[in-house]
Amino acid sequence: LRDNRPYSVVFLDMRMPPGIDGKETARRIRALDPDVHIVMVTGFTDHSPQSVAQVAPPVEKLFYLAKPFDASEILQLAEALDARWRQDAELAAARAELRRQMAEMEILNVELAASEARARQAALRDPLTGVANRIAFVGELARILAEPEAPVGVLFVDLDRFKSINDTIGHHAADELVRTICRSIEHALPPGAMLARMGGDEFAVLAATSSPDELGEIAGKVVEICARPYGVLGNMVQPSASVGVAWRQGVECSAPELLRHADLALYAAKRDGRSCWRLYTEALDETAKVRGMIEQGLLQALKNDELHLLYQPIVRQSDGAIAGFEALVRWQREDGEVIPPGAFIPVAEESNLIHQIGDWVIRRAMTDCATWNGPYVSINLSPRQFRRLNLVESLVDEARRAGVEPGRVQLEITETSLFENMASAAEVLEKLRKEGFKVALDDFGTGYASLVYLRNFEIDCIKIDGTFVADVGDRPQSPAIVNAIAHLARTLGMSVVAEGVEDVFQQQAMRMAGCGYLQGYYLGRPMDVASATALLSVDVVRTAGDPTTTTSNGRQAAG
Ligand code: C2E
Ligand code: CA
Ligand code: CA
Repeated sequence: LRDNRPYSVVFLDMRMPPGIDGKETARRIRALDPDVHIVMVTGFTDHSPQSVAQVAPPVEKLFYLAKPFDASEILQLAEALDARWRQDAELAAARAELRRQMAEMEILNVELAASEARARQAALRDPLTGVANRIAFVGELARILAEPEAPVGVLFVDLDRFKSINDTIGHHAADELVRTICRSIEHALPPGAMLARMGGDEFAVLAATSSPDELGEIAGKVVEICARPYGVLGNMVQPSASVGVAWRQGVECSAPELLRHADLALYAAKRDGRSCWRLYTEALDETAKVRGMIEQGLLQALKNDELHLLYQPIVRQSDGAIAGFEALVRWQREDGEVIPPGAFIPVAEESNLIHQIGDWVIRRAMTDCATWNGPYVSINLSPRQFRRLNLVESLVDEARRAGVEPGRVQLEITETSLFENMASAAEVLEKLRKEGFKVALDDFGTGYASLVYLRNFEIDCIKIDGTFVADVGDRPQSPAIVNAIAHLARTLGMSVVAEGVEDVFQQQAMRMAGCGYLQGYYLGRPMDVASATALLSVDVVRTAGDPTTTTSNGRQAAG
């Protein structure tokens, strides 16, 4: 054994000279070598085979050879046992090898399982925040919906104007903000709720309730949390979020449907001014269908040339001359129905259609303006158009193509365009002005902007919203407000247009308030280009104090 040359068979006499006997010898040998075959050579039954097996097991390796025997017997037994011993040894070695391989495979298996679990985890986690991702969220929602009775509610959370926060504080800090807000929301959720990050600044909550009241309570909390001031990497920011809420109604409810409902509710929250939450209602679905129809129809409209422009005069207060025309788009469908811009511009604004429509308006308006002698054209730009890359370049190209001086083109933008991203808005304004375009701030007074803010922007003109004008008769403070606005605007070097002037009283009130320009049904309704062109030969539209005066061909008279 020591030399690694083990014996295969031992022949052992049971009875031996005084000292230890065969049984004891067998015990000692077995203790040293568990594999060797032991053959007890015996004449008498000194010890029973069982008692020997007890001390030198196992029985299958114990044999008995009764005396007397002859040499061939011994030889045959020795050869047989030796062969068996070799087989046993080979078998044992093969078994050991197999065990080793199995152990190895076991380890491999465990490692594989671990890395698979890690991979699965990673596939379901959002790397930035560590919460579930969209795949995990949708999977879990589908799993819950598969149980017919399980209550479930979904909240879609979208940070408002996150892009401008991103631009202001930088990518790094914005990521940190997302992480922080994510943690804050997570802490505020009821037990059992699941939070997921669905994309850039979008989160979703899965709650184990179908009660609108309970879901509303969670939504309110989320809105409140998101509107707190946050300090991230040395910046103070006060974000806000809009939340849409939907829940399972009845057994038949698919995940895509529930998600769509939450999305509609989120849109409603955004439309209602952001930083609020809205529950899904069937009416939202209806609105969405109408919107879908409008969107489809608009694509047709662009192809079939169903859009046209009307022009509404903007009149100089001092002498009644037409200073410019505002271009107002109309959509006349094949069946003759005219759809006002208020019905389709907001729909177009939510898709890329706004660019196609806007480009069409810009080209048409500039082309028409080129045929006029003098007045400017005032073109409405929706926020999305204003944010568009290369806006200034394309306006320059279009003006050149139409053959109109940029100085005769005014762009009407709203506060939303400015405040969504102040830094880049200021840059665009500066570029526009450098090219010679004029910029007007539309619907002034309906938003949050104060004139002080406006100092930072290069704006030529303020259009005071029609609601102030309509109010002048009823509310004593309205003329005072208009007066203050007009005064400040003049100080800042901006001209002032009063919109929506509908009668002579409003006209006079606006004149007294110091508005240099007037626009409204009283001065002229939106009209087609032929009428607008014709009107230019009748220069003075309505002079203050004498509403009926129109001077034919009064260009010189108007000065
Ligand atoms: P807005 O820019 O404030 O345009 C003035 C709106 O007031 C026009 O409605 C005009 O017809 C109406 N209006 C003019 N005078 C009076 C008045 O004396 N009384 C009353 N009650 N209303 C008057 P419209 O044409 O329906 O346009 C609605 C809005 O649609 C516009 O509001 C503008 O924001 C948008 N819009 C119109 N055309 C375009 C366009 O080509 N592009 C874009 N992006 N938006 C447009
Ligand atoms: Ca306008
Ligand atoms: Ca307006």
